[in-house]
Amino acid sequence: MREYMTMICKDCSNRNYRTPKKTQQTEKLELKKFCKYCRKHTAHKEYKK
Ligand SMILES: [Zn+2]
Repeated sequence: MREYMTMICKDCSNRNYRTPKKTQQTEKLELKKFCKYCRKHTAHKEYKK
């Protein structure tokens, strides 16, 4: 079974990306991605339910 994690923009909290979760990933992932709502690159973090 493949798990996905949702990446949310830290600035506006919109859920912009979904990426396959790596099984051995333990630390919280933070990525610079383009947010269409902020119209710039922002830090995205893993969305927690
Ligand atoms: Zn944003």
